[in-house]
Amino acid sequence: MKASRRPQIWFLTGSQGLYGPETLDQVAVQSQQIVAALNDSADLQAEVVWYPVVTDADAIRQTFLQANAAGDCIGVIAWMHTFSPAKMWIGGLEALQVPLLHLHTQANVALPWADLDMDFMNLNQAAHGDREFGYIQTRLGIPRTTVAGHVSDPSVTARIGGWARAATGLAALHTMKLARFGDNMRDVAVTEGDKVEAQRRFGVSVNTYSVNDLVASVDAVPDADVDALVKEYDDVYRLAPELRVDGDRHDSLRYAARIEAGLRAFLDAGDFTAFTTNFEDLGGLRQLPGMAVQRLMGDGYGFGGEGDWKTSVLLRTLKVIGGDRPGGTSFMEDYTYHLVPGEELILGAHMLEVCPSIASGTPSIEIHPLGIGNREDPVRMVFDAAPGPAVVVGLADLGERFRLVANEIDVVAPAEPLPKLPVARAVWKPRPDFRTSAESWLTAGAPHHTVLSSSVTSDELNDLATMLRTELLTIDANTDARQFQKEIRWNQAYHRLALGL
Ligand code: MN
Repeated sequence: MKASRRPQIWFLTGSQGLYGPETLDQVAVQSQQIVAALNDSADLQAEVVWYPVVTDADAIRQTFLQANAAGDCIGVIAWMHTFSPAKMWIGGLEALQVPLLHLHTQANVALPWADLDMDFMNLNQAAHGDREFGYIQTRLGIPRTTVAGHVSDPSVTARIGGWARAATGLAALHTMKLARFGDNMRDVAVTEGDKVEAQRRFGVSVNTYSVNDLVASVDAVPDADVDALVKEYDDVYRLAPELRVDGDRHDSLRYAARIEAGLRAFLDAGDFTAFTTNFEDLGGLRQLPGMAVQRLMGDGYGFGGEGDWKTSVLLRTLKVIGGDRPGGTSFMEDYTYHLVPGEELILGAHMLEVCPSIASGTPSIEIHPLGIGNREDPVRMVFDAAPGPAVVVGLADLGERFRLVANEIDVVAPAEPLPKLPVARAVWKPRPDFRTSAESWLTAGAPHHTVLSSSVTSDELNDLATMLRTELLTIDANTDARQFQKEIRWNQAYHRLALGL
């Protein structure tokens, strides 16, 4: 995949002409100090770019139109250091197409009690300037994230950094291209969806390609490339003896490497950053792509099994949001339960395709029979997911709109070793407890395919859902099943009304 340039967040400070040049100069200097503090924070991956203080409707609208058109601008932060009469923001706010963060801060931390005079009051009035701005955003129905506090507070920069990550994910989603090899698994309901609506709402373009075009790409891989990949597997992972150069199934490992190289070449040639496969439609492939899918997910590609393009889109988006943070993000499927009362756990896995970014320790590469797909035994990486807090997220198409559902979880080590389970897996305890989580998830109609991430927070998912104007239901430590059921009903009414006529 191509590396992208460092994204920008434009910082806009609102004021008015009434104060005169001396005060406006101070506003400019102090807003530059806020920008410098944001750029000094390790929480912000994007570059915050200061823009001249705006004092009239035309300047506001022009700056927002430029933000829309600038390819590198993924969002705008607005702050009313002084009072900025909000009617002059109407035209600009209604034209704005990139995400907005309303930063409610001020230049000073402590009040200078002994020296507090009307000049100070005149300059530092975000306390009501931002309330004027909050009103107009709400009046216009502008989706935004609001963050209050001083920028020297790490919890403030962490929130802004998280929002900026969500905006990076949104930018990736707007230009994303997904390649489907085969259609959805026959008769499955939840993996279906409206691809036209997905492109309209999310920007992603989802199209199907013949699996035998992929086979041609796989067959065209030079032997030298296969040699190099096989060597890499040997260096990075623990290879089962039968797959090593002198092993009697080494040829299967070579073919798995060939699938990886061919699949990667196909995706890169078309600028695809996400894909799907379907075991019912493997054409001339000799193995179900197992390790190839795992390796590509490990490099940041989105993936969904059984033609599940919605989960693939979500996976790629969350990979971008997580970026280079510790932890990982993987395709996942709720598989089976440990239902001992008080010890309930969910075991998640898939046929083969779990991303090694969530692995605890070095994965082993193994070959085992697979009952479905009707092909040769597929090679796969086997590992346990690393323990720690994470989130699982699903995307469902309700027919009239999309719904995201997230559950905060704690990944744990398996209670006992799993010597006979030949696939990668994650074991987790859902919050607040198994019963509330599972009943709420089912009531929400959320899918069995999910994205599991230990590098994206539910706050960032909330920011993303706001930017997408898409429903997000979150099951966390505070969820009450009956209240959650009501939230679903209320949301149903709200989102129907929000769609308009
Ligand atoms: Mn599945």
